[in-house]
Order: sequence, then structure tokens, then C-alpha cells
Amino acid sequence: MLTVHNAALRGRPGRWTLTAERGRLTSITPDSGAASGLDAEGNLVTEPFVDAHLHLCKVHTLDLAGGGPLAAYTNGTMGAAMDAIDGAAAVKAGQTEEAVTVRARAALVESVRHGVRAVQAFADVDPAAGLTGVRALLALKEEFREFVDVRVVAFPQDGLLKAPGTEELVEEAVALGADVVGGIPWIEFTDAAAAEHVRRMVALARRTGRRVAMLVDDAGDPGLRTTETLAAELLAHDMAGRASAQHARAMALYPEPYLRRLTGLITRAGLGLVSDPHTGPLHLPVFPLTDAGVPVALGQDDIEDAYYPFGRHNLLEVAFLAAHVLGPNRLDDLYDMVTTTAARVIGRETDGLTEGAPADFVVLDGTTIREALTRHNPPRHVVVGGRVIASTNSLTHFPAFPGKSA
Ligand SMILES: [Zn+2]
Repeated sequence: MLTVHNAALRGRPGRWTLTAERGRLTSITPDSGAASGLDAEGNLVTEPFVDAHLHLCKVHTLDLAGGGPLAAYTNGTMGAAMDAIDGAAAVKAGQTEEAVTVRARAALVESVRHGVRAVQAFADVDPAAGLTGVRALLALKEEFREFVDVRVVAFPQDGLLKAPGTEELVEEAVALGADVVGGIPWIEFTDAAAAEHVRRMVALARRTGRRVAMLVDDAGDPGLRTTETLAAELLAHDMAGRASAQHARAMALYPEPYLRRLTGLITRAGLGLVSDPHTGPLHLPVFPLTDAGVPVALGQDDIEDAYYPFGRHNLLEVAFLAAHVLGPNRLDDLYDMVTTTAARVIGRETDGLTEGAPADFVVLDGTTIREALTRHNPPRHVVVGGRVIASTNSLTHFPAFPGKSA
């Protein structure tokens, strides 16, 4: 049994005691003053973090890729985004399963430390990478099963029709156990090929009982329309509510009447969106879509790879950065976007902090959301299944503090 006392909870004034038994939350009651178990010291206890979008197969590859792709991806209105993808592909030749495993494992250890309970993890599938990334991530999924729910996406990063042989590889990846069917329709050479890309991947997902996660419209071109194509195909295949769309940066440039029409379609298709304002100069309209009832999550996207030079799989940091791009006035919404809403976007059932729910939670370093975001420190404690799986305590010593005698 685990008891956590002296906890602050979101939206519930006062101090609280949580108890967990056999992996479930058994009670949440006002603090009685008893000091048994873990002391939250007045810090916030919340649902754990969920990352709806991470390219886990290419973490820590920036040094291999060089700075060229990064410069192309982040320049201006992202006109060269496709060049960045081509440049980044060069690192895949010669990539071994072991090398991917070592780098991705380091990132997943950081996930545990930062209280990330689930990750929608993209693994490149293409003639150059083969199934190296998928095999590595599926093995890590097993290795981390108790701590992190790794949902492996078979992701045709270089296109489907553009890179012949890829479709068969994606099918093989799904047969190996990949959880989600990926896609990146906007990089096909024609709109017709993009539509075909979406159609085939949604059909594969339906056939195999998988969800869909696609990177859509990731460049500064208002003519890109694959978010619409995806939503329409979901409806056509009876797959509403079974997909998420990542990036969709072109949405930032859509005329308002079209954006409104698209919002209606997205809603009907039950499509969740994932934005990552820290990894590119454009981002989808996060708050207008949230206000329209569309579930929008924030994702880490990249950790030290060809597209983004930072990242520690700290989703408080992701929300902190988003607060600088999107404005600091809706911190609670941003926090939902890396916790409960993100869980919804990837189709992970979450019961929240209620009696009977899985005893998965974080004890933050901060008594309020703002304080936790300001510090963006790892949680003081990460609890999964009623068990503490990581604790962090940072202390600074001031041996020569002004006024202190030597
Ligand atoms: Zn991405």
C-alpha cells in the first residue's frame, strides 16, 4: 500500500491524502494530519504526462545529421521542409538496431524520470531504414512495459508512392506488432498521390484493427490539404475517433472560412491534433481549435535530432516553451495538453485522479501549475501502479554565500 499525504490537487482546495492498493487509487480524502507514507510537502499531485508525438527512432542523432537539415526545416515559412527530410534521411543508411536501441533507451529513461506515462513513438519505415527502428522500438516497448506505455507507429517517413516498397514494409511492421499505422501524405509529389497515401494507410489500419497517426501539412503552404483528406477518409472508412494528426502547420496560413469548414470536418471525424510550436516557425491554431472543442495535445516531437537540437522528454518544458509562443494566460489548458488531453488524443483510456482508477500520478515540484511550469523540474516523485518508480531532489549548496563567514 502507498500513502501520499500533504498533496495539493487541481481544482480542489486544501490538502489531501491519496492511498493506493494493488495498483489502484483506493481513496482521496482531506488530510487528517497523519504523517504516514510519502510527504508531498504541499506540491501538486496530478495525472502523469503523455507525449502524443515523438520521433523516438531518431533521438540523439543530431551529430550524425549535421546542421543542414535543421537550418532547412526552421527557415522562414518552412519552404524547405522537404529538403530537411531528404537531408535527415542520410543518417539512416548504416543505422543498426543496436544503435537505435541505445539512443532510444536513454530517452525512455528520461521519460520515466519526467513522469511520462505514455508515448506515441514514431519509427521510420522506408527502404533505407527498413524495419530497424520498428524492431528496436518494439523491443523497448517490452523492456519498459511496466513504466511507460510505448505505442509504436509504423511511419513511412519518406512517403509511400514516392518510395516504392514502403507500403509492404509498413504492412510487415504492423504484422510484427506496431500499434499504430502512420503516414505523411503531404510529401508525395501530387495531391492525387497524397490522397492515395491516406486512403491506403487508413484502409490498412481498419483491416488490422489499428489506430492512425499521420504527419500532415508540415510546411508553410496554405495549399496543403491533407488534414482534410485524412478526416474525410476516416469518415469514409468508418474510422472516426481512431486517429491523430501531427504538425498541420499549414493550418496557420489557411483563410478563416476554410479553417472553420475544416474544424467542422475534424470534429465530425473525431480527429485529435498534436502541435509542437517549439520545433518550427509555424504552428496550428492551438487555442481557437481547443475552444471549438477539438482535442489538441502538445508533443515533444524531437530530441536532439536533425529537426530540433534540444529536448529531454520533459513535457513541462514543452508546455513552458509553448506558453512563450502561444501566450502565458492559459496555463491550465497547456497543462491538460501534455496530460489528460494528450491521453485522449492517442486513444489511451484515462480515469483521472479518482478512486478506483490506476494509481498513476506525479508529485510535481511546484504547488501550482504556474510554479511547476516556471521550474519545469522533473516531478519529485513518479508513481505508476501504486509504486514510486522515480524520485528527484535538486539541492544547491552556497558555501560562499554573501555574508557567510569563512
Ligand atoms: Zn514530428
